[in-house]
Amino acid sequence: MSKTEIVVIGAGIAGLTSAAILSKLGLSVTLIESHTQSGGCAGTFKRKKYIFDVGATQVAGLEEGGIHSKIFKFLDVPVPEASILNPACIVDLNDGSKPIPIWYDKNEWIKEREMQFPGSRKFWQLCNLIHQSNWTFANNNPVLPIKNLWDFSQLMKALVPTNLVTGILLKSTMFDLLRICGLSNDQRLVKFLNLQLKLYSQEDVYKTAALYGSTVLQMCQQPHGLWHLKKSMQVLSDALEDSLKKTGVNIVFGQKVNSITFDDVKKIWKVGAKSKQENVDYYADDVIYTPPPQSLLNNLEHSLVRNHNYKNRIQGLPDPSGALVFYSALKKDHLKSISSNHYQIVSNKLGSLFVSISEDGDGRAPRGEITLIASLFTKTIDWFNLDKNEYIKKKKVYLQNISIALENQFDIASENWLHKELATPLGFERWTNRPNGIVGGLGQNPDIFGLFGLSSRTPFQGLWLCGDSIYPGEGTAGVSQSALMVSRQILASKGINDFYL
Ligand SMILES: Cc1cc2nc3c(=O)[nH]c(=O)nc-3n(C[C@H](O)[C@H](O)[C@H](O)COP(=O)(O)OP(=O)(O)OC[C@H]3O[C@@H](n4cnc5c(N)ncnc54)[C@H](O)[C@@H]3O)c2cc1C
Repeated sequence: MSKTEIVVIGAGIAGLTSAAILSKLGLSVTLIESHTQSGGCAGTFKRKKYIFDVGATQVAGLEEGGIHSKIFKFLDVPVPEASILNPACIVDLNDGSKPIPIWYDKNEWIKEREMQFPGSRKFWQLCNLIHQSNWTFANNNPVLPIKNLWDFSQLMKALVPTNLVTGILLKSTMFDLLRICGLSNDQRLVKFLNLQLKLYSQEDVYKTAALYGSTVLQMCQQPHGLWHLKKSMQVLSDALEDSLKKTGVNIVFGQKVNSITFDDVKKIWKVGAKSKQENVDYYADDVIYTPPPQSLLNNLEHSLVRNHNYKNRIQGLPDPSGALVFYSALKKDHLKSISSNHYQIVSNKLGSLFVSISEDGDGRAPRGEITLIASLFTKTIDWFNLDKNEYIKKKKVYLQNISIALENQFDIASENWLHKELATPLGFERWTNRPNGIVGGLGQNPDIFGLFGLSSRTPFQGLWLCGDSIYPGEGTAGVSQSALMVSRQILASKGINDFYL
């Protein structure tokens, strides 16, 4: 019988990070990943001479004191080489107005936004005040949502006096903040915020929780910042894997977990996994589940039959988005001069396109060439239930429309593409095993953010959730925070109450 104290399911950033933390602290850990490589949505794939980042292309939390940095320091692993993004992004509303560079330098950004959005100073100041309060709170390691006395004690320890003031805004949206500041009719600001918030919270300005949105709007600036990793996004996972190897974690690739059951007699969790060749069972006291919670409906079938409330909660989760991702390569000289690695552009036909451009010589393409990745949200339902011909046709139309939008935006001649391909939710489902290819986490509206979200603590003792559907939300930094939180909860359940980074 293969038994460890912990089985972690999924080697995306959430799974790698929780496995690394717990094993560094001496617990025996098995990590099971269905793919043949780690990284999940933050992984990479190779095509011809190019390395493409599958999903995530920029990283928050690599600065000194940021969540990734703190975890690497604790694991005694070097922080991967990266450069700060300045500007983090250029947002082009494509309405004839001047594009908006989101500067890293705080003062430059203040000047820019006052020039771009006259009269908006109060709004940004309010967001900044809320963010300062949020940030102190987040750094005090709160546990959210609260499910028992220990969680409650951690929340109380994390609270600072300003949280009691910002707490009034618990059920407010970003649009409420605009209203408070008399800016609800500023269409250009609303459009800009809609674009940016959708990227980070999966919701628009009308639905994004004020407490969440205020913080994500500050992530591009000092003292935080967004980072571009040298070589590829995979280096983040590789660094975590190095730590797992050092601490002796049993890493199993190519096995898909298809059942999780609690053995009432042996009082132990049994995790059934399947590879191409065999079925393997793993046993553990605690199981950390990092795929989207919606997958539990298949993996935890047996236990869910006995807990209708939880099953209904999972079934009732709002539908997350899917993504269409265009992966391409070009000669650097064939791209109009660019002044940022990231652009967010509005296309009349496609809506918002988020574009990530590699740097010459950063390891993603041979020197003189660059990779260009463009992504947009899509409804997953629009891609399933099509017959093969319809699917191929629809994919071709999108590939063509995205190419044209990029050619217009960056003055690219259509014959100059060296490579282009499109991933749809079907491809994401195959790559990440996420049901229907859903990406990101749960939309961060006031009904799902923080206190009101899905807890890492499930009704089944010893089964824990972690990843981008759990507090504080999506992104590699968010899921690392969620991995730290679940690790602390598991340690506390074993009597270790004082683990902090
Ligand atoms: C197009 C796109 C762009 C993005 N851009 C950014 C960005 O720029 N910056 C950023 O920070 N974030 C970005 N994100 C979000 C970020 O990538 C994710 O929030 C984060 O990587 C999720 O990590 P995770 O570990 O929670 O989940 P995942 O990455 O989904 O990892 C889960 C892992 O579990 C494995 N798995 C699933 N089911 C099973 C099973 N049954 N058995 C065994 N293994 C299983 C999967 O193969 C996968 O490796 C983007 C996402 C997408 C899709």
